[in-house]
Amino acid sequence: MAITHSTANGFVVSFGEMIIDFVPTVSGVSVAEAPGFVKAPGGAPANAAIAAARLGGHVAFIGKLGADEFGFMLAGILKDNGVDDEGVVFDDAARTGLSFVTLGKDGERDFMFYRNPSADMLLRESELNLELIKRATIFHFGSISLIEEPCRSAQLAAMEIAKEAGALLSFDPNLRLRLWESPKDAQDLIVRIWKQSNIIKVSDAEVEFLTNKDTVEDDAVMSLWHPELMLLLVTLGAKGCKYYTRDFRGTVNGIAVKAIDTTGAGDAFVGAMLRKIADDQSALQDEKKLREVLRFANACGAITTTKRGAIPALPVEAEVLELLERA
Ligand code: ADP
Repeated sequence: MAITHSTANGFVVSFGEMIIDFVPTVSGVSVAEAPGFVKAPGGAPANAAIAAARLGGHVAFIGKLGADEFGFMLAGILKDNGVDDEGVVFDDAARTGLSFVTLGKDGERDFMFYRNPSADMLLRESELNLELIKRATIFHFGSISLIEEPCRSAQLAAMEIAKEAGALLSFDPNLRLRLWESPKDAQDLIVRIWKQSNIIKVSDAEVEFLTNKDTVEDDAVMSLWHPELMLLLVTLGAKGCKYYTRDFRGTVNGIAVKAIDTTGAGDAFVGAMLRKIADDQSALQDEKKLREVLRFANACGAITTTKRGAIPALPVEAEVLELLERA
């Protein structure tokens, strides 16, 4: 189905890692037991950028790839999906990052990363495309790009520049605890970024990690609230999502589908939400509009679970509208 680009002015700039996920050809086995893998482009911030662009959004990606066949392939995928790649740079020495995914029988996944170091970790502040960052309506990022220097400083600088130029900051931690030196390092840096972000999407597991409590009840979630925050979203897998703003809160139920691989569901959800909010920020104050945006985002997440891999499964707008009509 064709991608129709929006005529509204919202511009989403997504910052971070773009890598290749190797997805096993059968579910329910370990990486060692898998008979084979299919390569699927991934990396949460890149997935979210492509999700938003497939839905017709005006989107750019900023990150570093290896100057190798995988890197060139990934840059081509950004372009093919209508994502502006002016902010993408290539590293001559380090390879494009790889991750091997294991799929449980229920479609839940785990990751084994090759990062020693991978090109995405080596983006430097001096390589940032400032002009692109300054044009962002929403500047989106995760936490994997905060784990190592020099990318950490590049991200912190980019966030500052975007904020000064008037962008909303959007954060999806996408916690991968095993990549950090210690849980404390992860918590410290995530909390630092958290306090600067205007829109945050977390999973129920991330709420539990950040609050040190084993509940995602409203009180636990609201203990994470801060004055800069405009929208806090907690995704609940098949059950949909919860939303919190200064003035209202609630739940939007998920849409039932037959899930086979949940890789990318959260990124599809985020991409859809950003694409809509970048074009109409009034949804941040208008509960009825926000619930429509989140129903749309839930549908995008749901569709993404029905196919293997992240990016190949991301829908165009017509597919989402079709599912919403049937649901
Ligand atoms: P993450 O990938 O970040 O852990 P989730 O798994 O919670 O995020 O998924 C994000 C969104 O995708 C959910 O809020 C929901 O809308 C949708 N989704 C995820 N899994 C399913 C599923 N099994 N069935 C239907 N929708 C799903």
